[in-house]
Amino acid sequence: MIDFSKGLIPAIIVDIHTNNVLMLAYMNKEAFDKTIETKETWFYSRSRKTLWNKGATSGNKQNVISIKTDCDEDSLLIYVEPLGPACHTGEYTCFYKNILEQKNINDFSTSIYTQVMNEIIDRKTNTVENSYTNYLFDNGIDKIGKKVIEEAGEVVIAAKNKNSQEIINECSDLLYHTFVLLANQNIQLEEIEEELKKRFAKKGNSKGERKEIVNW
Ligand code: AMP
Ligand code: ZN
Ligand code: ZN
Ligand code: ZN
Repeated sequence: MIDFSKGLIPAIIVDIHTNNVLMLAYMNKEAFDKTIETKETWFYSRSRKTLWNKGATSGNKQNVISIKTDCDEDSLLIYVEPLGPACHTGEYTCFYKNILEQKNINDFSTSIYTQVMNEIIDRKTNTVENSYTNYLFDNGIDKIGKKVIEEAGEVVIAAKNKNSQEIINECSDLLYHTFVLLANQNIQLEEIEEELKKRFAKKGNSKGERKEIVNW
């Protein structure tokens, strides 16, 4: 069990939605027990020397979704649903002050979409045994295009069947084949991202354009 023999242990608070680290605070046994009991974060304030329920005065409580401990059970990693800014300054996260920034950290985050796309692009130049992606590239746009249309049809059938897992499977098939088509045409995922961002910024305030483009 958690080692409170030294009194306080650090708890790292993470936003369940974004994986951003929100704050670091300390817990004693009582704060830990109250956190488990209430499913809200409780800490021990070292400066005020009191137990502290995060958000009790500000309203910015944190609903606890999951708690992990580390290898030697002397620290906590707590995933929360934040009901407001974590920092008493009103900042979303306490970690908003840069000490060293060689590059924007967001430039390094790769979603599963980017990871899948990178693997697909890799297959354009590297052959892997029994690779279906290699097979698609070898057969070119005719084969790839046929598959995109086929999978789009299957998505619609799945939706009509009202089977959620089938819809998820078929949409995954469609996305994958769409990615292969993009890679085949030398179009980067970032170009789609840019276009979506442009449309997102414009949504709601353009009159002359086609409905489906602006009215999400
Ligand atoms: P709150 O818990 O949000 O109701 O805020 C109550 C008090 O707790 C604040 O006035 C601060 O003194 C302290 N506090 C709140 N959030 C933090 C935080 N992220 N780090 C350190 N102290 C905090
Ligand atoms: Zn440890
Ligand atoms: Zn703060
Ligand atoms: Zn399919």
